[in-house]
Amino acid sequence: MIYFDHSSTTSVRPEVSNVYSQLLAQQYGNPDSLHALGRKAHALLEKSRENIAKMLHVLPGEILFTGCASESNSLAIIGYALANRNRGNHILVSNVEHPSVMHSMEWLKQFGFEIEYLPINSNGIVTPSLVKERIRKDTILVSTMHVNNEMGAINPVKEISEVVHSIPTCVYHVDCVQSFTKIDVPFECMDLATISAHKIHGLKGSALLMKKKKVKLMPLIQGGQQEQGLRGGTENAPSNIVLSKTIRLALEEKEEVYKRVSKINQYIREELSKIKGAHINSKEDAIPYILNISFDQITSEVLLNALDQRGICVSAKSTCSSHQKNYSSTLVAMGYSEKIATHMIRLSFGKDNTMEEASIFIKTCKEILNQYGLSL
Ligand code: PLP
Repeated sequence: MIYFDHSSTTSVRPEVSNVYSQLLAQQYGNPDSLHALGRKAHALLEKSRENIAKMLHVLPGEILFTGCASESNSLAIIGYALANRNRGNHILVSNVEHPSVMHSMEWLKQFGFEIEYLPINSNGIVTPSLVKERIRKDTILVSTMHVNNEMGAINPVKEISEVVHSIPTCVYHVDCVQSFTKIDVPFECMDLATISAHKIHGLKGSALLMKKKKVKLMPLIQGGQQEQGLRGGTENAPSNIVLSKTIRLALEEKEEVYKRVSKINQYIREELSKIKGAHINSKEDAIPYILNISFDQITSEVLLNALDQRGICVSAKSTCSSHQKNYSSTLVAMGYSEKIATHMIRLSFGKDNTMEEASIFIKTCKEILNQYGLSL
């Protein structure tokens, strides 16, 4: 099998799953219990938080463990808006965010928040000048992703943050799910940042929200004192403990994997440019981990199924929206035609992919086009 769907999820590293199984068997104590088993779980959990904070260059108290990036995004947006209503009610968000961001924004409207959507430009990014044009004195929150999950476009988060912070009562939330451990993430310029473990060869059901100390949130899950009272419920100590190892291993390999993935990306771009009807939709400056392509001769669905039958896994659009019938809204927002948007597939590469797999992919596409492709 060839797995080109790492933006949807990744395999768990054996180093992570081995430690995790040991923890499940041995460290099942509740970190809030006062006995030895509880104290041990608490110590390991806090050590992990400390290590993660060091790797992100933030304080340990700025790391909140959550159950998934969708939860982190919801807590960041809804939790921040509800806790800071006295500051204003205007929120800016890009028009191509993950559904967990989009639905949180929609949900806030019932409380009188004014949500303004920032259109991305033809390169797939939100420009700092647009944020500058739209930001107001009563804007309390700006939210953009760092790397777009469908196209790989990289938002200029540092420049956007400068604009956001020109309003002293406004904070910047960044969904870093597709960028963290792949490119440098400037956490220093963000007030809230979302990360997911299963996108970086960690566990599903494990994620975090980086929340700067000065930022006040309202909890979405009521309960005990866990996670500074911002997320009630017994902490998932084994998952949270292995998250620091997951991050460390991914960061250690960051440069090497980036080079390998760039070569694969470049090779596929070159080979596709020789095929009639092929389009490379991701821009040259997109992250090399994500390559969005399409063929005039074949729709997304037919291509995805044909590749699947031949043992190649790709996505037709972002996985969280894959059961809806409509086409990629990101491509349309970037100005691509409806045809391209209904014909696109997303390849997303990871640390274990090889050049040989890239070459099989190209060969397989040519076979599929011969077999199913409409003549141009
Ligand atoms: N944000 C982005 C940009 C994503 O790509 C995803 C998952 O595809 C998520 C958030 C949600 O991640 P999780 O599955 O951990 O909720």
